[in-house]
Amino acid sequence: MNPEISWIYKKITRNGKGDLKMKSAKPAQNDLNRESEEIKQLASKFRSLNIQITPQRLVIASALTGTNKHLSVEDIHQIVRKKNSKIGLATVYRTLNLLKGKGLIEEHRFNDEFSRYELHTEAHHDHLICIECETVIEFDQPVIEHLQDLAAAEKNFTIVSHRLQIYGICENCAKSRQSQKREKHPLPS
Ligand SMILES: [Zn+2]
Ligand SMILES: [Zn+2]
Repeated sequence: MNPEISWIYKKITRNGKGDLKMKSAKPAQNDLNRESEEIKQLASKFRSLNIQITPQRLVIASALTGTNKHLSVEDIHQIVRKKNSKIGLATVYRTLNLLKGKGLIEEHRFNDEFSRYELHTEAHHDHLICIECETVIEFDQPVIEHLQDLAAAEKNFTIVSHRLQIYGICENCAKSRQSQKREKHPLPS
């Protein structure tokens, strides 16, 4: 692990409050600042959910911050290993289960075949799932949300929650299918 990042984790863990003052912030440290900001926010979420803060747990949870969303256990393990090579897959599993139980993260089972994890957010969204590459894309479509409300109201049904998963082929996979077709059946020149 980058020694400065490691220092941040240790410092957050030591006072257990996630209070962190960046004294050595330099413009060249943008990435470091972003990561420490994300860790600070995570630490405060840990506190609000009564999760004991440990460096391992922070490292594992931080794999899901920023643009890293909807990751498999293996994806998370890959990211975590770059920061701490001692964290094994079993620990990642155990920690994810713990964090899920505390409501910090959500597990989605797609097609009963594969799981993806993401940080729990208050903002609702649904998912498009590619059946070829298992990419998960978030969407929020107010028209669909509204139609679901209408459908339920028609049956005097009170919605508590809903989950919408749409399976199909993502843009990238559609493109590579197209080019494979072209290789097999080249256009007459
Ligand atoms: Zn795909
Ligand atoms: Zn999502």
